[in-house]
Amino acid sequence: MDLTFDNRFTDELPADPSEVVAPRQVHHAAYSRVAPKTTSAPTTVAVASEVAGLLDLTDDDVASEQFARVFSGNELLEGMDPFAMAYAGHQFGNFAGQLGDGRAIALGEVVTASGDHLMLQLKGAGPTPYSRRADGLAVLRSSVREFLCSEAMHHLGVPTTRALSLVRTGDQVLRDMLYDGNPAYEPGAVVCRVAPTFIRFGNFELFSSRGEIDELRQLTAFTIRTEFPEIAAKHDDPASPEAVTEFFAEVARRTATMIVHWMRVGFVHGVMNTDNMSILGLTIDYGPYGWLEDFDPGWTPNTTDAGQKRYRYGQQPQIAQWNLVQLANALYPLIEEVDPLQAGIEAFAEAFEAEWQDMMAAKLGLVDGWQDADGQLVSDLFAMLQATETDMTIFYRQLANVGCVAPTSNDADIDTTLIDAFYLPDELTAEVRSVIHDWLTAYKKRVAASGVSDAARKVSMDLVNPKFVLRNYLAQVAIDKAEAGDDSLVVELLDVLRKPYDEQPGNEYFAERRPEWARTKVGCSMLSCSS
Ligand code: AMP
Ligand code: MG
Repeated sequence: MDLTFDNRFTDELPADPSEVVAPRQVHHAAYSRVAPKTTSAPTTVAVASEVAGLLDLTDDDVASEQFARVFSGNELLEGMDPFAMAYAGHQFGNFAGQLGDGRAIALGEVVTASGDHLMLQLKGAGPTPYSRRADGLAVLRSSVREFLCSEAMHHLGVPTTRALSLVRTGDQVLRDMLYDGNPAYEPGAVVCRVAPTFIRFGNFELFSSRGEIDELRQLTAFTIRTEFPEIAAKHDDPASPEAVTEFFAEVARRTATMIVHWMRVGFVHGVMNTDNMSILGLTIDYGPYGWLEDFDPGWTPNTTDAGQKRYRYGQQPQIAQWNLVQLANALYPLIEEVDPLQAGIEAFAEAFEAEWQDMMAAKLGLVDGWQDADGQLVSDLFAMLQATETDMTIFYRQLANVGCVAPTSNDADIDTTLIDAFYLPDELTAEVRSVIHDWLTAYKKRVAASGVSDAARKVSMDLVNPKFVLRNYLAQVAIDKAEAGDDSLVVELLDVLRKPYDEQPGNEYFAERRPEWARTKVGCSMLSCSS
């Protein structure tokens, strides 16, 4: 396997002088060098061939035994310099101090033939100085979820870290899945994640909270130079107040874009702590995430968040902004003025508003763009979607088949075109039907006035309303099979999710609404952080 490494992060940023793996506080350092743990019998479960392609890996590389060894941490290639990043974070609203890569070990930065830098990171490759009381390992269950969801999100057009591979370690890992005092052994696995960098808001918070301002400046200059070259090019000093101000506004805009995509596809991250916020505006750290089934803005998949519902679907934009305020606080020592950072927060709000409106217009096929009166249409839509349990994904996809120029009857829409979106058809009472009726009438009128043909509207809607998402229960069925030794559904799902906007005749099964048995099943409707 022939990969070229240029390890800018470890070459240019301050290292922890100690290589002791035991849990400890690490000061004045951006990372600690740490070797992945060897495992007893690594075997490759699945590989995302597109990601292998980005890295210029050949089919032979991917099929080799060496691949399973390297991407489970059992063999280091020449040029790799494995390390764990130091970062802090606000968890559920409170500053938690040092966190760091407790079970992620970066291997280094690959320089691809096209000149891109891509960092490789193994998740679940053993303990690091940041593992606190935990083991640094990952179970197959959570690794299948991270692997499939990263790739599903990418193919949906959502900014995300990528997943190269899913490898079984051959070892067993003890987990108390429901935190109820019933630990059990589960198969261990390692996912190799790929992104330009895994720097998070929390990396900046760590230095800032400790008053390690030289290191904060170094990290910020490094991040701007390597990941935001268009900003660095404009400033002699990439950590000058002006450069940092621009950088912050750009992070804010990218974060807004990412959240708009989450809202578009019905993704709920579940743990939007600042240590889980990528500085590149990528979706990162797939833990107890979930996909909206019935449209419910109050839903959170994370059982740890069940009381407060801080990270519920409908609150993700506000939390992203709150997280940006924490990043602003962390960067403040480099600027020492509030106004420029405030402007960045406003850049988030403006970008979010504008992109959200464009996104909603696109979802509804309003090809003439968002108009002021559409605010009412959309708030009525959200009320309608909650009048009876309505599958978000199926609803939008099927709405494209409702006739507006050649209007179909509202009753026929409800009873045929949209019927599969309703979880409880018996609940389609006269009252509910009349809410849907009214909305469909308003919608058809709005669309007809825009002059778009029904056929052209369907084409445009099908580009933004996916038919296939990683439904919570589908991931769980794939996990149940994998735990029983059959990895075929993992591979099949990876394939279906490659083309989420295509009709894919023969694969309709994967687009169906959640079956009733999955309504309250663990792993399908609720997830813990245990992974
Ligand atoms: P999360 O919110 O799941 O991204 O994790 C929060 C922190 O806990 C991060 O610093 C993780 O590295 C750490 N962590 C989570 N699970 C483990 C584990 N099994 N072993 C070590 N550290 C972990
Ligand atoms: Mg995390």
